[in-house]
Amino acid sequence: MNKYLEQLIELSSIDKSIDGFEPRVQKIEKSLKISLEKESKIKSNIKIFEEEIKESELKKGKNEIHLSELSDKLQELSKKSSIVKTAKEVKALQLEEEIAKEQCDFANEEIERLDSYIESRNKSIEEEQAKLEVISQEVETIRDSISEELAAIEKEREAVYEHKQKLLPQIDQKILTFYEKIRKWAGNTAVAPVRKQACYGCFMRLNDKVYASVLKQEDIVTCPHCGRILYKETQENE
Ligand SMILES: [Zn+2]
Repeated sequence: MNKYLEQLIELSSIDKSIDGFEPRVQKIEKSLKISLEKESKIKSNIKIFEEEIKESELKKGKNEIHLSELSDKLQELSKKSSIVKTAKEVKALQLEEEIAKEQCDFANEEIERLDSYIESRNKSIEEEQAKLEVISQEVETIRDSISEELAAIEKEREAVYEHKQKLLPQIDQKILTFYEKIRKWAGNTAVAPVRKQACYGCFMRLNDKVYASVLKQEDIVTCPHCGRILYKETQENE
């Protein structure tokens, strides 16, 4: 085989694996990202529930103050009722008392409502905390497992780079420039295999003459349709 062609096939395969590392890393990190998002959603839910509890406690406090004011007022009214003389005064006092009692009922109901709301929110927090525990453990597990995977990829990446650094100085500068020029638009398919007499970069059929020179592997042959560098695929370089 033409020595340059051989080098280009090798270089193209190196470049392909270099470009493949980033998507692999992203794929691995994706599961961690998803779990971290779940974790932060749960944390924010807990925060919201805690805020709601705080707010309800405040409202409850206001209602309790109101209740004690009402109870003072009722005591006062009962004292007054022993002093008042006329029926009109008695009636006015009774009315005031009724209103105060109604307000007491309302405040008590409100406190009861707030209590049950706080209770339900506390329960929700407990549920979220249980979920948080599970997801935090999941995050830890994923972190451990992907750190190994990422380290393995990093090692692989270093080896491929090293391989490239060794190969590059051996390649003729003109050939390299030619390859890089095609790579600019063809990316990882700059060097394309020929299968069934077709260029597997553009999938167009090659005429017999071009195909014959590809099979000979004596020169660097480019596809007459797309311009990619062609090579005969063997099991070894498949
Ligand atoms: Zn082609």
